[in-house]
Amino acid sequence: MAWSDFCASIAALPEGTLWRHNQSGDLPGEGERIDAGELLALVEANKGRRGFTYTHKHRAENLHLIRSANALGFTVNLSANTIEHADALAETGAGPVCVILPQDTKANTQTPAGRKVVICPATQREGVSCATCRLCSRAERSCIVGFPAHGIAKRAVSTVAQGGAL
Ligand code: SF4
Repeated sequence: MAWSDFCASIAALPEGTLWRHNQSGDLPGEGERIDAGELLALVEANKGRRGFTYTHKHRAENLHLIRSANALGFTVNLSANTIEHADALAETGAGPVCVILPQDTKANTQTPAGRKVVICPATQREGVSCATCRLCSRAERSCIVGFPAHGIAKRAVSTVAQGGAL
């Protein structure tokens, strides 16, 4: 689907719709680059909706784009690979943070700097989905969302493909 068509499909969602971008991909742009124009088009299309996503494209020169998207209502979670990395990403202030946890993690925890890490409830309990939880859609949250490594596949159950509403 062309990016403009995808953005049009988002703009056509009813006001207030919670939707999740890119279950397995990342923000638009080649490699580590973020395509600012395409991201801005998506941010505009999302206005009035509650889109959220995750990115590994959080190198320094991209942070202003991520920060702007979060300020304008499209929630971009910065994805960390360790809780130490999660602290570093949180300190950028560019957006909310999520992190992969060891697969045997069963309880909420904290980072070395003392930030609270809340385990994605959909990885721990039946009957929880992003539609009922919504934690990852909250750009202003202070907690970090943690995904036990084994829970990632399960997390997919509660989501839909790019462009769909939850
Ligand atoms: S269910 Fe998990 S992935 Fe979905 S919004 Fe909640 S914490 Fe995020």
